[in-house]
Amino acid sequence: MSVAVPPIRVRFAPSPTGYLHIGGARTVLFNWLLARKSGGVFILRIEDTDQARNVEDSVGKILEDLRWLGMPWDEGPEVGGAFGPYSQSQRLDIYNQYAKRLLETGQAYYALESQEHLARLRDDAKAKGGAHRYVRPNPLPTIAEGEAARAVGKAVVIRFKMPDQDITVFDDILGQVTLTADHLEDFVLQKGDGFPTYHFACVVDDELMEITHVLRGQEHLMNTPKHVALQRALGFRTPIYAHLPVIFNMDGSKMSKRDKEKALAKGERPPEIDVHDFRLAGYLPEALINFIALLGWSPGDDREYLNREELTALFSVDRVGKTNAKFDRAKLLAFNTAWATRVTPDRLLAAFRDYITVTGSVLLKNESDDKLRKLLAVCAGFRTFRQVEEKIGFLFVADDAVQYDPKAIQKVLAKNDGEGFKMLGVVHPKLESVVDWSLQDLEGALKSICDEQGVEMGRVAQPIRVAVSGSTVSPAIGDTLVLLGKDRTMRRLERCLSLVEAVGVGKPG
Ligand code: GLU
Repeated sequence: MSVAVPPIRVRFAPSPTGYLHIGGARTVLFNWLLARKSGGVFILRIEDTDQARNVEDSVGKILEDLRWLGMPWDEGPEVGGAFGPYSQSQRLDIYNQYAKRLLETGQAYYALESQEHLARLRDDAKAKGGAHRYVRPNPLPTIAEGEAARAVGKAVVIRFKMPDQDITVFDDILGQVTLTADHLEDFVLQKGDGFPTYHFACVVDDELMEITHVLRGQEHLMNTPKHVALQRALGFRTPIYAHLPVIFNMDGSKMSKRDKEKALAKGERPPEIDVHDFRLAGYLPEALINFIALLGWSPGDDREYLNREELTALFSVDRVGKTNAKFDRAKLLAFNTAWATRVTPDRLLAAFRDYITVTGSVLLKNESDDKLRKLLAVCAGFRTFRQVEEKIGFLFVADDAVQYDPKAIQKVLAKNDGEGFKMLGVVHPKLESVVDWSLQDLEGALKSICDEQGVEMGRVAQPIRVAVSGSTVSPAIGDTLVLLGKDRTMRRLERCLSLVEAVGVGKPG
């Protein structure tokens, strides 16, 4: 007789405190891959019981990020499921029943100390160089006393009576992890506002939603013994736990929102931290997924580029490492460049459109598909869509409004007694005489200038590039000129030549 194996049920359980952090995305991915691989179920549960930390609209943003990454959930907000509701704030009655059960069996108790009193104890302990550990009252307040205090509006809490014993958790990645009894205290199950704490709601929901595996960040490791103790008290199963390595910056610091503030204070562009930041910066979700899959996991060979199907086929918790992962931004950029050529042209276009929509790009929003394809093609090898936009921005300004980068003017045009300007003087009549403004003819004309002047292409192309774009970055020079067209090119060359006097170098020619 064959015994049916229950399906793997995993969950991602974000607290709605903002956009999805890149570390959270890695947690989602590993859960999602485990479910997909095993024909299991991936559940999205919103842990919104901390009234003070909830951020409006955050749930919508997290759902949007997950959709953009391409990781749909089988049960959860908007899709429903048999184990709902999937937002903890809608499950208070359920938690209350379990709180009642624990109170009645003497495994939990009302605690009446005021917040101020506890804060004082914490401060005193800190002043003495230690940490405050809650001391169980003796005798314990009775249920009647607790309820009476609540009835008169006191913010009493319910605490779990932690058994006085060490608790060992078996973690699928880290092995046995023991928290000794002296590190465990009677933690709060229900707060003064009547909402459950994270620990309590999480344990109840993991049981009721029949979660089989909990894959979450290592920052939760020290919560797990508490969860196990609570599961034992309630007669619940213990799911399989696997705590994922922490993701650090290359310098070993933690990747946090503060990195953004620090960069802004220095007048620098803030680093991407949330999934939404990467979307706004013009990364492909394919690249991001591939990259974050390798933060702590490896396929066991030296393959680097893996799509969703390959990741699903290869993923296993056994291959998740114990050690911290480093977030190598240069590698991510290289992945993005590679993925832009690995996806189909239609997919690339759709992703570029998405970038244009989310950034509200004024430059590109009205462009046709054909034009966008063209722009992507001339910027081939680009790092991000943002870089494409920066590279072709010069096309979208009026000819008499090109902003010249003073450094580019100095380096490429004014230096060596106006060498670059002089080159423009040579180039201008040559380009004027090009009749068929095609890539082929333009390249031919530029080549003949090089030959006549006995110089490398860069010495001809860079001055033209600065003259027509204002900077030293644009697509290949032939593409740049074709995109701009003859009239606009000539107008820009002439305007640039008229700057010669302004920068104080000799007349060209
Ligand atoms: N709400 C918790 C968080 O956002 C979930 C932790 C867990 O997966 O248990 O970190």
